[in-house]
Amino acid sequence: MKKREIHIVGNWKMNQTLHEISEFFIQMTAMKMELKCKAWIAPQSLHIPILKEIAFTTGAIQVGAQNCSYADSGAFTGEISPAALADIGVEFVIIGHSERRTIFKEDNEILNQKVLAALKHNLKVIYCVGETLEERESNTTFKVIEEQLAVGLKNVPADKAHLLLIAYEPVWAIGTGKVATAEQAEEVHAFIRGKLTQNAEQTIILYGGSVKPDNIDSLLRKENIDGALVGGASLKAKDFKQLCTSA
Ligand code: PGA
Repeated sequence: MKKREIHIVGNWKMNQTLHEISEFFIQMTAMKMELKCKAWIAPQSLHIPILKEIAFTTGAIQVGAQNCSYADSGAFTGEISPAALADIGVEFVIIGHSERRTIFKEDNEILNQKVLAALKHNLKVIYCVGETLEERESNTTFKVIEEQLAVGLKNVPADKAHLLLIAYEPVWAIGTGKVATAEQAEEVHAFIRGKLTQNAEQTIILYGGSVKPDNIDSLLRKENIDGALVGGASLKAKDFKQLCTSA
C-alpha cells in the first residue's frame, strides 16, 4: 500500500483537435473507467473550458494548465495569468517543463516567480526538474536538480507547501522512448524528497519521460514514485485509461 495517493497527469502539450478531444472522452466514457488514482489532464489553454465541461459530466478528471505568467494582470501580450486560470476553476498548473526551460529560455529565477504567482491563487503547482543527457554523463545530475529546487522553490510560503507537487523528468527520457530505469528514477526521487524543506513526506513526486502502460508498474513499485507525468501515452484514451487503472 502506497503512502501517498497515485497521480497520473496527462500533459497534452500542443496537441489534440476538438474532434480528437471529443473522441478521447467518448472512448473514456465507453470504457467505464474505474479510477484507482487521481487523473489529471493539462490540455492547450484554449481547450481548458471545454475539457472542464466534459470532465464535469464524465466526472473524475481534473483539468490544469501547462504554463502561466508570473504576473497577475497587465501589459503582457500573449500570456495567461494565474489569476485568470484560478478564475475559470483550473485546478493545477505545470511549471518549468523542460520544453519551457529549453525552447522558451525560462530559468530557475523566472520559474520561481511563476511558482509563487500560481500558489498565491491557490493553484496546485507541478514543478518540473530534470537533467540533460550531458549533465547525467558528466555526473552533475544531483547538482543540477538541487539548484532547480533551491531557486525554483525559494520563498514558498509554509501555508502553500501542500499545493506543491514535483515532477522529475530526465530530459533525455522525454519523448525519446528511453525511460529511466525504476532504480535510476527512485534514486533521484529519494534525493528530491530529502531536499524538500516543507511537507516532504506528503509531497507527491511524479516521474516523467516515456511512461507507457508497459513500464509504469515497475516505476510505481518504488517507494518515492507517486505517479507519472505523461506526454505521448496520455493522448490515446486506451493508454491513458490503462495508466490510470494500473496505478
Ligand atoms: P513523454 O513526455 O511521456 O512523451 O516522454 C513527458 C513530458 O514531456 O511530460
